[in-house]
Amino acid sequence: MGKGTEGVRPLVAGNWKMNGLKAALGEAAAVQEALAGLQGAIAADVMIAPPATLLMAMAHASGAELLQFAGQDCHAKASGAHTGDISAEMLKDAGASAVIVGHSERRTDHGERDADVLAKALAAHRAGLCAIVCIGETRNERESGQTLAIVARQLAGSLPPGATAANTVIAYEPVWAIGTGLTPTLDDVAEVHDLIRRDLEARFGGEGARMRILYGGSVKPDNAKALMSVPHVNGALIGGASLKASDFIAIVRAYEG
Ligand code: PEP
Repeated sequence: MGKGTEGVRPLVAGNWKMNGLKAALGEAAAVQEALAGLQGAIAADVMIAPPATLLMAMAHASGAELLQFAGQDCHAKASGAHTGDISAEMLKDAGASAVIVGHSERRTDHGERDADVLAKALAAHRAGLCAIVCIGETRNERESGQTLAIVARQLAGSLPPGATAANTVIAYEPVWAIGTGLTPTLDDVAEVHDLIRRDLEARFGGEGARMRILYGGSVKPDNAKALMSVPHVNGALIGGASLKASDFIAIVRAYEG
């Protein structure tokens, strides 16, 4: 078990979003090299969610066993007439062990609702992938005091029955903190993660007690250690700072033991 809070092995996952041509494979290689140099001193799983075009090459590169790989979204169905979509089975086939579902950019840009997210999480489980289920409030919702109610609603609506600590990870990402350089206070992060943990335990018992809850939203090398030491924070989902190997590794080193 890792050094994170609660004896749950943490996960540090980088979400590259719609960034990266094949030259960017060098950044993943640099992450692998740095992890190899750290010789097992990182008490956390480390994952990259590249654009789908790079997934297979990245997952099959030499040294890739030090990293895990994820898709950024999946369709709810396994196959069929859905132009432009990718199924969880295809991501698995390409070398992913996980898939992000319900990221706020999917919820905003593509109108995904909790029910859609739940269907995608179920698809991930069907394919044998871990679903990284994203939830989080908007700025208006925070300013009007609705954060806890929104997070509880999204959690209840987005998680399928049968979620376990092995097949599901929650990522709490306040929408207003994503890509803005703003972060909630550590007390605010603690309050939301505590609510999520209590909800998970109430619904899934022991599995809910061990499910990893990531924080995401402007995690950088200089704030990672403080954020990762908040109770019930079991790792991070990182956007912008995951694109450069040196920044990503500096964040991963929050878990150097
Ligand atoms: C994200 O989009 O999941 C994210 C956390 O982005 P950033 O780290 O850039 O705020």
